[in-house]
Amino acid sequence: MTQRVDAAVRDPVDSGGRWLLRGVRPLGGAAVDMLLDGPVLAEIGPALSAPGATVLDADGLIALPGLVDLHTHLREPGREDAETVASGTRAAALGGFTTVFAMANTEPVADTAGVVEQVWRLGRTAGHCDVRPVGAVTEGLHGARLAELGAMASSAAAVRVFSDDGNCVSDAVLMRRALEYVKAFDGVIAQHAQEPRLTENAQLNEGVVSARLGLPGWPAAAEEAIIARDALLAGHVGSRLHVCHVSTAGSVEILRWAKSKGWRVTAEVTPHHLLLTDDLAASYDPVYKVNPPLRTAADVEALRAGLADGTIDCIATDHAPHAPQDKETEWAAARPGMVGLETALSIAIMVMVEPGLLDWAGLADRMAGAPSRIGGLPQASRDVAAALRPGAVANVVLLDPAARWTVDPHAFASRSRNTPYAGRSLPGRVQATFLRGRPTVLDGKIV
Ligand SMILES: [Zn+2]
Repeated sequence: MTQRVDAAVRDPVDSGGRWLLRGVRPLGGAAVDMLLDGPVLAEIGPALSAPGATVLDADGLIALPGLVDLHTHLREPGREDAETVASGTRAAALGGFTTVFAMANTEPVADTAGVVEQVWRLGRTAGHCDVRPVGAVTEGLHGARLAELGAMASSAAAVRVFSDDGNCVSDAVLMRRALEYVKAFDGVIAQHAQEPRLTENAQLNEGVVSARLGLPGWPAAAEEAIIARDALLAGHVGSRLHVCHVSTAGSVEILRWAKSKGWRVTAEVTPHHLLLTDDLAASYDPVYKVNPPLRTAADVEALRAGLADGTIDCIATDHAPHAPQDKETEWAAARPGMVGLETALSIAIMVMVEPGLLDWAGLADRMAGAPSRIGGLPQASRDVAAALRPGAVANVVLLDPAARWTVDPHAFASRSRNTPYAGRSLPGRVQATFLRGRPTVLDGKIV
């Protein structure tokens, strides 16, 4: 049976023992047995026998590689009232994630080797999922001078993704230098694409709804202009650009064009931008305030199509926990953002799998394979079929595709409750998550 191990002494490469998962459906295929032996997926086949292994009756559950989130705000250090590395990674494990990339806009900012190593160590100590810190592009996220990118890359945290997320690297020369710099270690610059002058005081998407409410709008062009500029820069210097939380139909077109040139440009979309629209802002409920803002139904449709055809590479949560005093206030004063780790997979099933836009293997690629490739995770995790073959690292999530559950924010492992899905019935439920063969979640609960 599983043993409870004190979190402080957990070693992330410890053995999970031997687990025999009976009747799982890898990537939604035919039912087989799967044997996890220590940190390795040892065997897959019908009616395996494994004396001494703990047997888990997983009949009908779908097995996917452990999910990877390229865009998580864990808020530690600095805003532990909203989230900590421990609480955020518990939420991640419950959501089926085995790796999260922790954004740099903490207090202090993760712009030195010291801070990224601190975050990385907190993740190892908590042990719920791997934490890969994202380093800031510029010192203090101020957009004036490059941060110590090389020192963060060569630190124990081995940073490969750099972002000023929350702020756009709006200076074109600085962006070019950052792209050039990270080429040396195959890093990537993840841009929060928001032209600052075009979005001063912006409260929601610029369009029919903002005009009706009389609030300053955030035009699609402010996102699209930066993506186009940065794609040109990435193409020019031959470096890797990743675009955070793409939100408009025009952005999808620009990404399609950039990829057609052979430039190394990738992009993510959030679950909320794949589902929700700007008319929700008319309620003035700040739970719907997010950056970039919710857009129109036509944008949602284009984002889904772009994710289905691979123009948008992956889903990333932009999990943005906020304390009540920062969120449950009047619209203009409320911080933008939504929590997402515990609902992302269900929303993805609802908007992509149920309508037939992606099959299970496609969903696994968008939530595990593609983010592994972009984030520079080990080779074996970059291909979702290879990640579930014998010999692979035993990072596995088991989900019940037939289950439905109702979102209760008070039941979240996250310290924050700012979800737009409270009370909503969602499809698909994570039953178990294994991190290197060790269960982090069993029976839908943290181990
Ligand atoms: Zn952002």
